[in-house]
Amino acid sequence: MSSTPRLFVTQDLAEGAAFPLDDAQSNYLLRVLRLGPGAPVRVFNGRDGEWDVRIGNVQGKRASLEPVSRIRPQPDVPASAPVLLFAPVKKAETDFIVEKATELGAAQICPVLTERTQTRTVRLDRFHKIVLEAAEQTERLDLPEVKDLQPLAAALDALAAGTVVIFCDERGDDADAPWGGETGRAGPIADVLAGLGEAPVAILIGPEGGFTPEERDWLRGREDAAAVSLGPRILRAETAAVAALSVWQALKGDWR
Ligand code: SAH
Repeated sequence: MSSTPRLFVTQDLAEGAAFPLDDAQSNYLLRVLRLGPGAPVRVFNGRDGEWDVRIGNVQGKRASLEPVSRIRPQPDVPASAPVLLFAPVKKAETDFIVEKATELGAAQICPVLTERTQTRTVRLDRFHKIVLEAAEQTERLDLPEVKDLQPLAAALDALAAGTVVIFCDERGDDADAPWGGETGRAGPIADVLAGLGEAPVAILIGPEGGFTPEERDWLRGREDAAAVSLGPRILRAETAAVAALSVWQALKGDWR
């Protein structure tokens, strides 16, 4: 079964309800994989679980799919699955963050503008494509919601009530000291998460240049935010995103 191709489709999935595929997916099944009528495929749409389907009629370049039976029900998304807020970085690294956040079970992917964010536009169509491919590959049945780029303050205001912002802060409080000094350094992420109970979280990762001192003051002063450290090594933004989501899965998610 695992070598059976797995596709995300937008159509409703129900027994006997055949549907046409678009050109790109038809091309993938018929020409890239060289499959023909009767070949098994697995599909999901983020709503109706995962289905065993067969390639049906092929008309010209287009194939239709015929649902046979549902092989996995649509799981309930854990209410606590984390939101990832991140400042877009360079293209390849941003793509990496979106892909890995999908693999690691983020519920929402929210690019945010911070003062030092270099990349001030994002290609949402590209993000959607990466999310789809990662969900297909990772056997995830739900898709993380992708939000448009917005200023950090607006993104924080839009979080569900009761969400705790896990502010990944690599610096201490002393702006003149190397590493920002030790004073006021945030608590280790594992300790902070352990103290949170089941509260939903939003993990916040800054841009290559980090947060400005003003942003750090503002974030640390927010009642809904908890500053955390990922250790004394300064990580690249993409590493920090993967690390923080992994720690969340280990302590609060489905790695337990
Ligand atoms: N150039 C910045 C580093 C930015 S790293 C500087 O030298 O200060 C990019 C982002 O990754 C940071 O804004 C932070 O959110 C996260 N990050 C990296 N290393 C971290 C660490 N050790 N602890 C907490 N967050 C970290």
